[in-house]
Amino acid sequence: MSWERQISIKSAHELNIMRHAGQINAEALQAAADAAIPGATTADLNAAAEAVLKSYGVFSPFYKYPGPYPYPASTTVSVNEELVHGIPGKRVLLEGDIVSIDCGAVYEGFVADSAITVPVGQVSDVARKLLTLTEKSLYVGIEKMVAGNRVGDVSSAVQDFVESQGFYVTREYTGHGVGREMHEGPQVPNYGIAGRGIILRPGMTIALEPMVLVGTPATRVLKDQWTVISYDHSLTAHFEHSVAVTEEGPRILTLLKDGGRPGRKSPETV
Ligand code: MG
Ligand code: MG
Repeated sequence: MSWERQISIKSAHELNIMRHAGQINAEALQAAADAAIPGATTADLNAAAEAVLKSYGVFSPFYKYPGPYPYPASTTVSVNEELVHGIPGKRVLLEGDIVSIDCGAVYEGFVADSAITVPVGQVSDVARKLLTLTEKSLYVGIEKMVAGNRVGDVSSAVQDFVESQGFYVTREYTGHGVGREMHEGPQVPNYGIAGRGIILRPGMTIALEPMVLVGTPATRVLKDQWTVISYDHSLTAHFEHSVAVTEEGPRILTLLKDGGRPGRKSPETV
C-alpha cells in the first residue's frame, strides 16, 4: 500500500458533512454493539449496522474495498484474537468474547470511519482492562491532535500509554487521513517519536485507530487473506474515531448525535 497519498484540508462546511457521516456511522456501530450478545453471529452484527446505513440511504466504503479480493461486507467484525478485518459470517459469539466492529459511511461524498470493541456478556479481567485501556489510548492520542503538533506527537502518545500498561501496539496497520477517500494521507501509526512527522493543520481529518494486543505486537493474516490475528492468539482490541484538527482543538466526528460514544450502555470514565 502506497502512502504517497494526498492530504486534504476540509472547509467548515465539509467538516459538518463529515460530522453527519460520523453520526450515522456511530449509530450503525451502536446497533452492531447492541446485537453483540451470546449466540449472535458476526453476520448478525454486520446486518444490524447495515440496516442503519440503509435507513439513511448511505453505503459503506468497506464493501468491495480493493484487496486480495474485493472486501465482501459493510463492516469488519473481529473476535478475540482477531485484530482487524474479520469478515462477518457464521462465527457464533460466546459469553466472554470481545468483538471489534469497524464500520464506514459515505454521506454526500465524504467518509466516516470508526470502530469499537465491546464485551459479549461478562468478560475476564484482562479483557476488561484491554477494552478500557485501548479506548483510553484513542482519547490520549486525540488530545494531541492539536494544530501545530506533529503526527509523531499523536503516535508516541498512543504507544507510550499502551506500553505503560504492559500491552502492545501493532506495527503493521495504522491510522490515516480520511475525507473523500477512506484512506488519505497522512499515515498515522500507533507508535512513533514525539516531534517527528508532518505538522497537523486545521481542516485535516484523521482516523486514529489504536490496535492493541495483549501478548505480542506481531500479527499474521488468515487464509481468507483479510482477517488479521495476533501471532500468539492473545486477545486484541481496536477503537477508532475520525477526528478533525480545528482552530478550537480536536473535534471528534464519529460520536453519536447526543455526543455520546457508541458501544456502551452507560457512561463510564476511562
Ligand atoms: Mg475503520
Ligand atoms: Mg480506519
